[in-house]
Amino acid sequence: MKYKSTRGGVSDLNFTDAFLMGLATDGGLIVPQTIPNVDLDNLRDLDYNNLAFEIFRLFIDDIPYNDLRTLIGKSYSTFDTQEVTPVVKKNGLFILELFHGPTFAFKDVALQFLGNLFEYVLKKRNTYVNVLGATSGDTGSAAIYGLKGKENINIFILHPHNKVSKVQELQMTTVEDVNVYNLAIEGTFDDCQAIVKSIFNDLKFKEKYHLAAVNSINWARILAQIVYYFYAYFKSGVDKAYFSVPTGNFGDIFAGYMAKRMGLPIEKLILATNSNDILYRFVNYGDYSTGKVVKTLSPSMDIQVASNFERYLYYLSDENSIRVKELMDEFTRTKKLKFEGDLLKKVQLDFESYRAGVEDTLATIKRFYEETGYIVDPHTAAGVFAAIKAGYRDVICLSTAHPAKFPDAIMDAIGAYPEKPRAISELEDKNKRMWVLGNSVDEVKKFIEKKLQKG
Ligand SMILES: *Cc1c(COP(=O)(O)O)cnc(C)c1O
Repeated sequence: MKYKSTRGGVSDLNFTDAFLMGLATDGGLIVPQTIPNVDLDNLRDLDYNNLAFEIFRLFIDDIPYNDLRTLIGKSYSTFDTQEVTPVVKKNGLFILELFHGPTFAFKDVALQFLGNLFEYVLKKRNTYVNVLGATSGDTGSAAIYGLKGKENINIFILHPHNKVSKVQELQMTTVEDVNVYNLAIEGTFDDCQAIVKSIFNDLKFKEKYHLAAVNSINWARILAQIVYYFYAYFKSGVDKAYFSVPTGNFGDIFAGYMAKRMGLPIEKLILATNSNDILYRFVNYGDYSTGKVVKTLSPSMDIQVASNFERYLYYLSDENSIRVKELMDEFTRTKKLKFEGDLLKKVQLDFESYRAGVEDTLATIKRFYEETGYIVDPHTAAGVFAAIKAGYRDVICLSTAHPAKFPDAIMDAIGAYPEKPRAISELEDKNKRMWVLGNSVDEVKKFIEKKLQKG
């Protein structure tokens, strides 16, 4: 399999180069040059790891099969169940539990694999990287757990000091591996992002210190997420699948779109948003225009520009890179795109979308709990809300986080806290390792320099 950029400026990359490139050098996103077709019967009875292997090898031909199997095995051995992503049936819905990894959120499925892949590839190439990123909570902890203790990698993660949830802060700062640096910045998440962006823009600094990112646009993350759509389809035993997906960056749901294009019988992808509804407006009205980000109960979906959207735009434009580039340039200029007529119909053939406000989210958690005894987290609740609105039978709802990560929202909804998994309650007694820094690019740069010169 070869890879290219959605904007056409890069092509014929093998998987490893595509993986290391992350964002394409022409500003586009990496996509496979063809979409492979699968034979469902060959996949039906496989366990998670073997299924992952069969799907990965369609997209990866520059890593020996044995090594690939080892990487997969290592990645999912950190999950608390061999099933990796179990499916449970509750009333008329299936819940695809994606939160059995070390940080209790679905990003582990991709980032556990990414960490091992990074280490493997860097060793082969005899080089190293220093990962730099900013987080408002979930992505940071999943990245830290993906990369902690890995050779040839350090990770520097900025978070806004005292402005992430208690569980998220503990998850990040109790990691004691020497290659992990938690930087608590005296500022907001936007300040953290601005610092990271500014450092990446200093190309000299970036090169000198081998800086790299692990953001949600890396193709390897999408690839890892395709697997559980297949897994859930087989486990649920449905004939034609409806998936409901709580969405922020269009990453998770794009993996579902790829699964469909590979031949998985998906009738509809139900796209669930919270009040940050750019994707809801896109699917229903063809209106892809940014609004102001508002705070909700599902912070990992508080996003108004979906970083993976360009990948879908590429397929919506029939793989026309020139058109994609025009549209993305227009979007950069005007912060909006409009889709009408047949193009919008084409979107609605694959997707439908619902928006869950705060009240909808709380009411869904409550109602679902009363009817089934099962507690869903506020992100999953948006998906369950959308599935119920859509009204199909046997919808598979992606559950993206464990409810114990959002205890206050659960308390608001049902008047009780969710049970804490032991791994979360144990965090409170662990040592913390973090550095509080001012809201300053220079301070962060100096910190990085100091730590790297020492080692
Ligand atoms: C990141 C995240 C999402 C959104 O996923 P995207 O790939 O950005 O669409 C939903 N729920 C949780 C808990 C997340 O951490």
